[in-house]
Amino acid sequence: MLLKCPKCGVKNYLDPYPFWNFKGKTKCAGCDVVYAVEIANGSSVRPPQPVSGTPKDPDLLLPGFADTPDNKPVTGDGKTRPAPRARADVYGKPKPIVRNSRGRLVAGRPLKPEELVGSRARYVAEGKEPR
Ligand SMILES: [Zn+2]
Repeated sequence: MLLKCPKCGVKNYLDPYPFWNFKGKTKCAGCDVVYAVEIANGSSVRPPQPVSGTPKDPDLLLPGFADTPDNKPVTGDGKTRPAPRARADVYGKPKPIVRNSRGRLVAGRPLKPEELVGSRARYVAEGKEPR
């Protein structure tokens, strides 16, 4: 879905997943004009209308990508939305791994005893029936 801004001509790409069924506000990445859009099943219910709103509004859903009429990308903080991460909670953290003496991966980090509560591995290690 494309929102071509009539004021500045910037093409704002409203990516299908978050905008498939969407009723709310988005913002032109070029000139920061806030638009009210209503999209149902991937097609526009009504044309986007410029509305009053501040460009810093937290409930704005920013376009995923935008480019100018001469196909230069518009990027930057507050212009377009960052790409979604598969696991946002572990992004950038080192993975707990163990390598052998040849440098090959052999395992993740060893589990701590408190992580084995109620598990089969703890029953095997302690030789006791779980309570
Ligand atoms: Zn614009």
